Amino acid sequence: LGGSIARALARMKDATVVDDKVLADCLNEISRALLQADVRFETVRDVKAGIKSTVNLDALAAGTDKRRVIHTAVAGELCRMLDPGKPAFTPSKGKPNVVMFVGLQGSGKTTTCTKYADYYRWKGFSPALVCADTFQADAFDQLKQNAAKAKIPFYGSYIESDPMKIAIEGVDKFRKEKCDLIIVDTSGRHKQEAALFEQMLQVSEATKPNLVIFVMDGSIGQAAFDQAQAFKQSASIGSVIITKMDGHAKGGGALSAVAATRSPVIFIGTGEHIPNFEVFDVKPFVSRLLGMGDLSGLMDKIQDVMPADEVLPKLTKGAFTLRLLYEMFQNLQNMGPLGQLFSMIPGLSAQFIEKGKEKEGQAKIKRYMTIMDSMTEKELDNTNPKLMNKSRINRIARGSGRPVKEVVDVLEEHKRIAKMWSKLPFRRPLTNNRDSFK
Ligand code: GDP
Ligand code: MG
Repeated sequence: LGGSIARALARMKDATVVDDKVLADCLNEISRALLQADVRFETVRDVKAGIKSTVNLDALAAGTDKRRVIHTAVAGELCRMLDPGKPAFTPSKGKPNVVMFVGLQGSGKTTTCTKYADYYRWKGFSPALVCADTFQADAFDQLKQNAAKAKIPFYGSYIESDPMKIAIEGVDKFRKEKCDLIIVDTSGRHKQEAALFEQMLQVSEATKPNLVIFVMDGSIGQAAFDQAQAFKQSASIGSVIITKMDGHAKGGGALSAVAATRSPVIFIGTGEHIPNFEVFDVKPFVSRLLGMGDLSGLMDKIQDVMPADEVLPKLTKGAFTLRLLYEMFQNLQNMGPLGQLFSMIPGLSAQFIEKGKEKEGQAKIKRYMTIMDSMTEKELDNTNPKLMNKSRINRIARGSGRPVKEVVDVLEEHKRIAKMWSKLPFRRPLTNNRDSFK
């Protein structure tokens, strides 16, 4: 999705005049990309209409950067789609918060319960897990194993068959023990059977949860909206967690789940293990969709490509030089094919991040480095945008044996990345809110 939308916007950038025709073409490209990413038709139609109504090219004052306006409108519309307009419930310390997990069997509830508990334990809570799934034979064993691994207190039963009874007992027990985050795992069945919803409602009635979290497999494609809506109609869902975002999930599921439940996505699951869990942030998610790179997730990953203590001193005067780009490419080369990582680099253009074309991206980086090998020290450390004139470009092309056009491409790529980096919050410490959560 990121690749195609980024391409659509890039194409628009190439057009000399941005008129209504270019806007229409661009919107069609974006619509196609969203549909391919499993966003349902109705939602895509709404986004398109939203962008059309916010962007009025004729009314813009002369000199306004129209591409920027369209870009902002697209980003704004996608953000709006992901923002249900109500804040997510967050448990407050010291109170007996009860959180109930619902979702289809196999969606990842039991796994996610433990991740959620672990996340809040790192934030200073005393979480506990209650297994109110008496339908699946091994449900309690699975929760027990997960909980033990994460060293989180748990409650369940091998003999009791009434999930409501277990839920009540478990919540009572942990309330008495002053746990301030009591997480109730429920059963899910193969289909959205009435019985499942009935049981879910009973457990909900019995435990009066402060929050019901709907867990959805992110890779179910177009089925996402209907599934989310079915749950919404039966339970008062407060938040959504999308799992399996490490697999074939294309992002559309998150949009559909929000549209259907009018509830925010709060976390995403990115693997089977406990730390494979990320806070969901609308803006970085949308930035990534638009190929702008994930500015906050980046802070995690960039450490590997460019350690902060190395980059920061080199960014004096705020300039991201060609030499820095070269070093970044070098680190990327050493790290092997890392398509995912490429998309985290702000400004790196869509040509490098296309899914399935990681090899080509790597090869291109190699060629770019060959070109940069023919640059002088002065050129590599240059901060003056006017330095790179025609004769220098020709000399670099001759020296590296690459076409002039490709040298220009390198400089363009550098310019784009440098511009993006100049906007990065480098003055703030290079940490993120998950630094204590390992
Ligand atoms: P439940 O039936 O809803 O409780 O689902 P489970 O928690 O038992 O998960 C079903 C399967 O999905 C298990 O094999 C999990 O390991 C796997 N799973 C859960 N979350 C994720 C995730 O974020 N990524 C991946 N790759 N697998 C996951
Ligand atoms: Mg389960």
